[in-house]
Amino acid sequence: MECLFCKIINKELSSEIVYENKEIISFKDIHPKAPLHLLILPKKHIPSVNHLEEIDSKLVGNLFLISQKIARKKNLRGYKLVANVGREGGQLIDHLHLHLLGGWKSAKEREVPGMP
Ligand code: 5GP
Ligand code: ZN
Repeated sequence: MECLFCKIINKELSSEIVYENKEIISFKDIHPKAPLHLLILPKKHIPSVNHLEEIDSKLVGNLFLISQKIARKKNLRGYKLVANVGREGGQLIDHLHLHLLGGWKSAKEREVPGMP
């Protein structure tokens, strides 16, 4: 399956990668909605949360643990992790991903249009 994010994973398209292991990759969002806006995703092409199966449970756990690790490395005390699901949920790219949003200096600054 060759979606946009698979192309980034396969290095056919460039991106600013901040973390990578054999099953997970993280890179900067091209249109940041926060001072730090990363996408964290499995290399396996899973279209969305709606497509997860029992066999993916460890991978999903690792996705959160890697998110925590990246946030710690970036010295973020608080941050948002968002998964949009389906068009109605605001998902534009059909490859499961978490948005990691953070780096605000105040609660006011934290108000992100289009994000909860
Ligand atoms: P979604 O709406 O599917 O949850 O989020 C997709 C995200 O991918 C958007 O925030 C969008 O800015 C980001 N994005 C779209 N195309 C590219 C790209 O080519 N490179 C990177 N790094 N991010 C992208
Ligand atoms: Zn994909």
